Amino acid sequence: MALDARQKRRITILGSTGSIGTSTLDVLRQLGGRDRFDVLAVTGNGNVDLLAAQARECGARLAVTADENRYGALKDALAGSGIAVAAGRAALLEAASGDADWVMAAIVGTAGLAPTLAAAKRGADIALANKECLVSAGDLFVQAVSEGGGRLIPVDSEHSAIFQALEDDQRHAVERIVLTASGGPFRTWSREQMADVTADIARAHPNWSMGLKISIGSASMFNKALEMIEAKHLFDVRPDQIEVVVHPQSIIHSMVGYVDGSVLAQLGAPDMRTAIGYALTYPQRSPLDVKRLDFARLSRLDFEAPDETRFPALRLARTALTRGGLQGAVMNAAEEVAFHAFVGGRIGFLSMADIAEQVMDKLAHLPPASSMDDVFAADEEARQVAAGLIR
Ligand code: NDP
Repeated sequence: MALDARQKRRITILGSTGSIGTSTLDVLRQLGGRDRFDVLAVTGNGNVDLLAAQARECGARLAVTADENRYGALKDALAGSGIAVAAGRAALLEAASGDADWVMAAIVGTAGLAPTLAAAKRGADIALANKECLVSAGDLFVQAVSEGGGRLIPVDSEHSAIFQALEDDQRHAVERIVLTASGGPFRTWSREQMADVTADIARAHPNWSMGLKISIGSASMFNKALEMIEAKHLFDVRPDQIEVVVHPQSIIHSMVGYVDGSVLAQLGAPDMRTAIGYALTYPQRSPLDVKRLDFARLSRLDFEAPDETRFPALRLARTALTRGGLQGAVMNAAEEVAFHAFVGGRIGFLSMADIAEQVMDKLAHLPPASSMDDVFAADEEARQVAAGLIR
């Protein structure tokens, strides 16, 4: 959305209380705060105290909790502030459809799909952290953004790296994209060692500080699996052009290989604020107070092939990409249900991939989606099948 440089940018942050949301508010603060940005809405779910504090700090006009039961708590926390308060799913959709120029999509999981879609349809630029939107709705989501007239700017560090390394007029010359993966806390573990881990052990990521779901997803490599599907839709590449390489230091965030053998990479300290800042000021770059790379101290960058036997999620992503249709939505929903069961102590770490695979096989017959209703229906069906398997 083109803006006069003197105008304040109107911002909405969906999922402001999470890891990405909090970093987004820090980036806004660093880049001029209220002098440059008019925050229309911040949204959260359970953490209403933080939501209220954020709304006061950034001068948001509206604060929304998706949880209707927390309306009273949020209203009390914002009493006398002049900030409007709302709660529930409809209120969240209304906030997402507001008049923002730029919307950060940072709600975790499929809960983020409908609000992000609403913002896209209204024509806002979408800074996409919520990869589940693209994994589930794929080309329908891309089409909604395009019809709305806004831009889709990736925030996931890997996809931001590819976005930055892609030369606009040379897209036809892209041979492959290479997603880097840290390998997570179990990079060198055997399946036997992983079998009994708890969520507390699995969430301890070696390089990044992130929300619970993506941390567990990094340990199982389901996060990378989702990112492979996200990459297909974002960059319109064939499945065989998407590679994954394990790079334990998380310094190279991803790469683009061209037909002449050149590989362009984007590097930086593992800090999401760089990708968020880029999404906010794209195509410009703005100064950010984040750690700089010191190459002399870095001394080495390692790479290894991913092991799809120990980390079957990667194989499942390839299956979903090959089968196409609604398999992304099915894999995503099944994984989300399995993730909650693992965190709740009802299934083991390795069962997450088993359940996703079984659900994908059971629902492989679903025809391709012709509308968002088909996506939501497949999501619901996959959840029910996964829940049945877990019971
Ligand atoms: P967090 O768990 O830290 O935050 C999630 C946000 O979503 C919170 O604001 C939470 O509210 C809100 N939320 C949770 N459930 C619902 C719901 N049912 N309805 C509405 N809002 C809800 O997640 P992250 O910030 O780590 O991740 C957000 C997204 O960004 C994910 O899709 C993730 O894959 C992606 N991402 C994250 C990265 C990271 O470094 N963290 C990197 C790249 C991508 P509350 O806390 O108030 O309950």
